Amino acid sequence: MKDRNFLDTVMEFEQQLEAMQVQFGALKQFVALMMEEHKALETENDHLRARLDELVAKEETVQVAAVKKTSPLDIGEGYDNLARLYHEGFHVCHVHFGSLRKGEDCLFCLSFLNKQNV
Ligand SMILES: [Zn+2]
Repeated sequence: MKDRNFLDTVMEFEQQLEAMQVQFGALKQFVALMMEEHKALETENDHLRARLDELVAKEETVQVAAVKKTSPLDIGEGYDNLARLYHEGFHVCHVHFGSLRKGEDCLFCLSFLNKQNV
């Protein structure tokens, strides 16, 4: 009776070991999956960072070019562009710049354009 009990215990232990092996296999698969995903995210992150650097550099180039372009000779052209933008229905004042005027005149815009015109 005692021996029978012992055999049961050993068999039960074997079953537990088998179950643990299955669990361990699943855990290994999960870790492998996580590592793959981590690698993919890292690569994507690197790409996005490079792209961002590219865009920032481009933006800075454009800004430098814009600053260079704003020589005294070009002020008239800048004014024309702003005036055209205003007549197309957009704010050019610093308060609402770029938003739609919805057909109403804006005192900020007008005073800004008047100042530029002098
Ligand atoms: Zn305005």
